[in-house]
Amino acid sequence: MASYLKEFRCIGGICEDNCCIGWSVEIDKKTFLKYRNLKDPELKKIINNYVYKNEEYYDSKVDYGLVELKKNKHCPFLSEEKLCSMQAKLGEEYLSNVCAGYPRLINEVNGILEYSATVSCPEIARLALGKQDGIEFIEKKTASSKDDIINIYVNAIKDDNPVYAKYLQELRGLTLAILKSRKSPLWERILIIGLVFQMIQELTDKNKAEKIPEQIKSFEEKLNNQGFQEELGILPVNQSKQLEILKDISDKFNDSNEIDSKKYLAFINEFYQGIGVNKYDLLYEDFYKPFMDEKEYILENYLVNYVFQSLFPIAESNQPFMDYEQLVIRYSLIKLYLIGISGFRKGLTESLVIEFIQSFSKGLEHNYTFFEKIRDYMRQKNYDTMTYMSILVRN
Ligand code: SF4
Repeated sequence: MASYLKEFRCIGGICEDNCCIGWSVEIDKKTFLKYRNLKDPELKKIINNYVYKNEEYYDSKVDYGLVELKKNKHCPFLSEEKLCSMQAKLGEEYLSNVCAGYPRLINEVNGILEYSATVSCPEIARLALGKQDGIEFIEKKTASSKDDIINIYVNAIKDDNPVYAKYLQELRGLTLAILKSRKSPLWERILIIGLVFQMIQELTDKNKAEKIPEQIKSFEEKLNNQGFQEELGILPVNQSKQLEILKDISDKFNDSNEIDSKKYLAFINEFYQGIGVNKYDLLYEDFYKPFMDEKEYILENYLVNYVFQSLFPIAESNQPFMDYEQLVIRYSLIKLYLIGISGFRKGLTESLVIEFIQSFSKGLEHNYTFFEKIRDYMRQKNYDTMTYMSILVRN
């Protein structure tokens, strides 16, 4: 379990980016049927007007029914005090699985439940990203409810898993160890992970996945002896190409019709204004770098949380290097936007950076197609190589 979860309490009414605003609400079948039999006249009216059966549900424990949002994008159960009227009147057992579970995410890996949470919740973002000493994972004995939604199941011995899924714990463990090793700057750690996964991809392509444990040992030795320095040295830095690629991605895929978070879109507006009148490399030197020299743990924590909960490197595909690209895209886009925003705001602060990452997560990480479109774009442009990963990561 991610350690920050122990401290988490929903701040409901005073939450600045309440999860009951902007997202359609999913209702599991059991709760849906309970709602149909409610007697409370006020709740009954809301249910009749806004709750309907989802004819295209994919899991009856998740989205059997849906709640239509009001015109202002608020959940109709949200009271003026920004509290859930269903919960206030009837208690937590009347919340749907999705409402009761958010912002927690549960994965099951080889029979063990892993708990973490999404930084799209502002309170989780503050707790998780703000940890100066980094995020820790602790063991917790769980009494899991049968209604808990399991986000991803992995059973390494099942045939339909990618061949390297067998080594998920080792590969994810190595990735987390590299990300958390603060002897070198974060960009360097990210590129070392790329060099590792380039090799893992080669073994996978040659049907030699059984050599992965041996290879992991040799990576660990190499890391201890600073053995990646030569390979890192020849990877390119090209800030103008970096800006060209990332800005093209931003221009193409930030579609305000598809992105629900007004807060994220407002930040993107600030980014364009900041970048429009300032030089990218100067903003990096004047604002972004001095801030990150002190507080790079915020981005490290974001990536550590992402790697843990997405089951990196078997998150998005059957291709470990493709998963690495997804990590690089997230890091590079956050960096790009913060550089532009720093120009607009004439600097960065910890609360601003955390707020931006929270809005990035709320706006994009719950939008299933955004990162898929970028993955296809990277393929089409032949940017899916270590050379381009370096161009995106290094400044
Ligand atoms: S976003 Fe998080 S803190 Fe805010 S209301 Fe939802 S669960 Fe509570």
